[in-house]
Amino acid sequence: MTAAATTLKIEHLEFAVTVDAGRRVISDATIHVADGVITAVEKSEALVDLPADRVIDGRRKVATPGFLNGHLHISYAHAVRGIFPDDVQDRLAQVFLMQSAMTAEEEYVTTLLGLTEMLLTGTTTLVDPGTTRFPEATLAAYEAAGCRVMIGEHVTDRANAVNLPVYETADAIGAMQRSVASLDGRLDGRVRAWTMPFSLQVCSGELLQAAKAIADETATMMTLHHGGSMGRSGPSPTRQLADLGVLGPNVVLSHCMGLSDEEVRIIADTGATVVMCPSTVTKSGGGIAEHGRLPELLEAGVAVALGTDSVNSSNFTDLVRVMQLAATVYKDARGDTRLVPPETAVELATRTGAAALGVGDRLGAVEVGRRADIVLFDTARPQWRGLTDPVRNLVHSSSGDSVDTVIVDGRVVVDAGRATFVEDVWALIEDVERAGARIRHATGISHPTSWPII
Ligand SMILES: [Zn+2]
Repeated sequence: MTAAATTLKIEHLEFAVTVDAGRRVISDATIHVADGVITAVEKSEALVDLPADRVIDGRRKVATPGFLNGHLHISYAHAVRGIFPDDVQDRLAQVFLMQSAMTAEEEYVTTLLGLTEMLLTGTTTLVDPGTTRFPEATLAAYEAAGCRVMIGEHVTDRANAVNLPVYETADAIGAMQRSVASLDGRLDGRVRAWTMPFSLQVCSGELLQAAKAIADETATMMTLHHGGSMGRSGPSPTRQLADLGVLGPNVVLSHCMGLSDEEVRIIADTGATVVMCPSTVTKSGGGIAEHGRLPELLEAGVAVALGTDSVNSSNFTDLVRVMQLAATVYKDARGDTRLVPPETAVELATRTGAAALGVGDRLGAVEVGRRADIVLFDTARPQWRGLTDPVRNLVHSSSGDSVDTVIVDGRVVVDAGRATFVEDVWALIEDVERAGARIRHATGISHPTSWPII
C-alpha cells in the first residue's frame, strides 16, 4: 500500500460532488486532507497556497465521497462467480454448501479479490452481512486493502432449508458476543463488528433480543435479512420484530421488499434503517414494480443504503450501476419521472447510506471534519462527455470502470486505476480460480452452461 502522506491535496478538480450539507457541486475545486481527515473543500483559487506532502492533479476528474455498500456477501462467491443460471432453484442451499467447504486461505484470497473489485469501482466501506467464516484470516485482506468493513457472524437457532448451521440458542448468543468482542474496532477502527442474526424466520425471539442487547451494550449495530410480508398471513415480520423490541436506530434491515404501509411506518417510528439491493431483486425476479417501497421509505424519513448482495446474487459489486438502477426502476414501474432522481441515488450510496449504517457523522460526504474517503473519476472518456452535470453523468452515463483514484482515511489505495495493495492481480485471480475448482469438486455443484462450450 502507498504510505499515507500526512497531508494530501487534490487540486483543480473539474468538479467536486461534495454531498455536503448544502449539496455543493464545486467546479475547479481543491480538497485538502490532513491525517486522514478532510480539512478544506473549496474553489481552487482559495487554496492555491496551501502546501501538502502529496499533490494529485484533479484536472478532468470528478470527485465524490467513497461509496458505502450496505449488503455484500464477500466470502467465497468470487471463486465460483457465474456458476448459477438465472433460473437456478434452491440457490441459497447451494451457496451455503459451497461456503462451508471453503478453507481459511481460500476465504482470504476470495475476500482480497472481492475487495480489489470493490475498491476499483469506488466503494470504500462494506457491510459483509455475516457470511465470513474465518474473520481472522480475512482481516489480513482488510488490512492490505485499507477499506472499512462491518463484519460479524450470522447465526441461526432454527432448522432451515438453506444449509445454514443451526446453533443452540445459548451458543449462538456466545458466538455473537465473541465476534463483537474480538473484532470490533480492529485496524484502527476501520473494522466494526455487528450482531448478525440471519433472519426472523430462522432465529428465535430470544436470539433476536440477545442480538439487539449485545448491539446496545457494546454501542455497535445489528443487521438481519428482512423478507417483507408478501404472501404471509398474520402479523407482518416488521410488526413481529417491533413486538420483540428489537427495532431501533442501531438496527439495519436488509432487502425489505413487500413492506406494507404499516411496516414503513413502524420502521420510521423506531428509527431502524434499511439496505436495498435493487440489482439482486431485478435479477431474481423479485418484483420491484410491485413490491419495492424505496420512495415510501425515503418519504417517511428512513435512512436507506444501497447494497449489491453477493457476486452470485446480482453478480457485480459496482455501486454506480446500482445507483443507475435505483434511479430508473421506480420511474418505469410507476410512470413517474420524479421518483428517485440521480441526486437521491448518489445520496443513497454516500451520505444517506452512511447514516443508515451508523457512520453518518464521519463518512458519506466530502466535507470538512469527515474522514477522507474520496473517489476520483477519470472523465476524459467518451461516456462522461459532454459534461455539464457531473451528477447526471455519474448515475446515468458512467460506471465504476472509470474510477481513477480511491482514497480511504487519507491513504491512496487505487492510484491511476491500479489497486496499490495487490502486487500481481493475475496471480491473485489464479489463486481464487484454483479455490473455485476445488470447491466445485468438493461439493459436486455444477450447472451446465446454456450454450455449449467446445
Ligand atoms: Zn444477504
